[in-house]
Amino acid sequence: MLIVEDEPSLATLLADTVAAEGYDPSVLAEGRGVVDWVRRNTPAVVLLDLNLPDQDGFGICRDIRAFSNVPLIMITARVEEMDRLRGLEIGADDYICKPFRPREVLARVRALLRRAVDWREDRPAGVLSLDETRFEAHWKGVALDLTPVEFRLLQALGHRPGRVLSRAQLLDAIYADDRVVSDRTVDSHIKNLRKKIADCSGGDDPLWSVYGVGYKLELGGVRSA
Ligand code: CA
Repeated sequence: MLIVEDEPSLATLLADTVAAEGYDPSVLAEGRGVVDWVRRNTPAVVLLDLNLPDQDGFGICRDIRAFSNVPLIMITARVEEMDRLRGLEIGADDYICKPFRPREVLARVRALLRRAVDWREDRPAGVLSLDETRFEAHWKGVALDLTPVEFRLLQALGHRPGRVLSRAQLLDAIYADDRVVSDRTVDSHIKNLRKKIADCSGGDDPLWSVYGVGYKLELGGVRSA
């Protein structure tokens, strides 16, 4: 587990709390290096303080989400930021407000890990496979010829089948920079992705549009044409 927290007393409290539960915490006290650390060490969970001396947690979270769906809990001191967290949909899975009780942190971590295990187990083997180092995707064993953006889109949705992601979350997943693009960009990439999956499978359509919210990918009951 990675804990990113610049206040030493809080960092120690968090580390001691999760270590007592059998987790193996690593602590970083600044934002610099966090993204690389996550890339190298693939932690099971990230606890990320929003207010760090050198970088803000939003940017770090977004950068992590560009390549990873690691369960991530944002820790924030200010209530108004908590509201923004929800609104910005930057990809945090949960948030905790300071001051917090260690027991609350543990409960959130356990709940997140349970969900993470659920989506791994729910994924029927062999329907969708993603090789994230080679940017290769296979649908029922057939290679999909995807653009990098389509791959990242499928990756974001495929990591959590059944979970709805908003267009904003999908945009964050497919573009690492802050370019200004319309939400409709996501719709057109989804349309292309849908066609490629259908073409290679004789009409499978695992991509569901959820009105007013976004998209989800269902691997269980794949609709067929
Ligand atoms: Ca802080």
